[in-house]
Amino acid sequence: MTAYADCTYCGGEVAEKKIEYDYRRAQRLMVVSNVPAGVCRQCGEKYFKPDVLKRMDEIYHDIFDRQREPERTLTIPAVSL
Ligand SMILES: [Zn+2]
Repeated sequence: MTAYADCTYCGGEVAEKKIEYDYRRAQRLMVVSNVPAGVCRQCGEKYFKPDVLKRMDEIYHDIFDRQREPERTLTIPAVSL
């Protein structure tokens, strides 16, 4: 486990946690579980290491461009105000 730099927004301490992350690009949404991320203890801002972002990007392209089956598919309610 490598240390993260302090939060760029509030200067708080950033600690690694496994989180569920909504990876959204170009109107497409993919929910990724078990993502190692640095989370600011004060404001909750999330930081990702380059290899983690690269992995999520690869999976995104596998699923949306190369038709790989995801582990599961969620149904998400959508509303407007
Ligand atoms: Zn912060």
